Amino acid sequence: MASVELRGVRKAYGKLTVADGIDLKIEHGELVCLLGPSGCGKTTTLRLIAGFIVPDAGEIIVGDRRLSSGGQALPPEKRNMSMIFQSYALWPHMTVADNVAYGLKLRRLPKADIARKVASMLAVAKLEKLADRFPGELSGGQQQRVALARALAVEPETLLLDEPLSNLDTNLREEMRFEIRRLHDEFRYTTVYVTHDQLEAMTTADRIVVMNAGRIEQIGSPEDIFLRPLTEFTARFIGGTNILRGAASGHTIHCGRLAIQWSQGQTDGQAQAAISIRPHEIELHPTPSPGENTFPGRVLRHTYIGAQRDYLIELDPETHIRVVTRLDQHYAPGDTVGVHLPIQHCRALAR
Ligand code: ADP
Repeated sequence: MASVELRGVRKAYGKLTVADGIDLKIEHGELVCLLGPSGCGKTTTLRLIAGFIVPDAGEIIVGDRRLSSGGQALPPEKRNMSMIFQSYALWPHMTVADNVAYGLKLRRLPKADIARKVASMLAVAKLEKLADRFPGELSGGQQQRVALARALAVEPETLLLDEPLSNLDTNLREEMRFEIRRLHDEFRYTTVYVTHDQLEAMTTADRIVVMNAGRIEQIGSPEDIFLRPLTEFTARFIGGTNILRGAASGHTIHCGRLAIQWSQGQTDGQAQAAISIRPHEIELHPTPSPGENTFPGRVLRHTYIGAQRDYLIELDPETHIRVVTRLDQHYAPGDTVGVHLPIQHCRALAR
């Protein structure tokens, strides 16, 4: 195992810069998720690490070896990395056991070692009873486990996963997230995991790298990214939020006729600023009595969403916010309510 480091990595296709100076160090044994919307450059970054793509500039260092640098890259088969693709790419004519053994046979390991490693991987991935089946006789989740077992069997220095769960249905996806994390805790391979699904990233990652248009927007633990987003993009993309904009003065922004105070985060020092407050952090009161960061509002929409209620509230004609409350907070469209934006949850953002 080894750390993986990208220094100033750039890749462009014609005029489209897909990786725009990526600086990132993934520690030995760490699981890092690259998270962002479709087209932001996650897969390209993963393929640059794998060696399928040569960077235009910058370098990629694994342990103490420089594997890629501007215009050059060691080919994938010489990198001691395993990659798992969205499609799993299992060999359809080979049994589960033979699929898992495949990489070991390529490396010409002695037969007894192969048998021992395959048996142990099949046990870890809970595939023992399926060892003699063919991929076409397995469910999506089972195929996914075979792909994982095959990737781990060769004891790679680095494990690369490209949207590994996107072909599974919702329930199975949820189960497999925990499975991937369990396997990671057992083997601790340095792992880079690409996903556009924030729950998947939050469940599996030690650290999340939020990407936007070829750049890194923020790096942090799942809690960091959710509780302390630095930019509007991260706050919106992770968890959803209300963004309120206006003229900044000290720790207050003037949003329409509302003067909203904030105590977390930092603005970028411009005259206009934005703050974020999550829908579940806002409190509604039946009477609009005045108070600190408390404003009268009118319920525009109420939606019952199972364990909670989701409201759209008008604070003034230009400012609508989403509020998520417990079930016992029931208001109807047209009701006037007091809307409290607790200062400790109002977070200033850099643009
Ligand atoms: P993501 O994985 O975040 O969805 P990708 O890294 O696959 O994003 O792609 C980023 C951008 O680069 C997209 O706009 C995509 O169309 C473009 N792109 C990727 N590969 C190529 C290629 N081989 N040639 C031209 N454009 C590409």
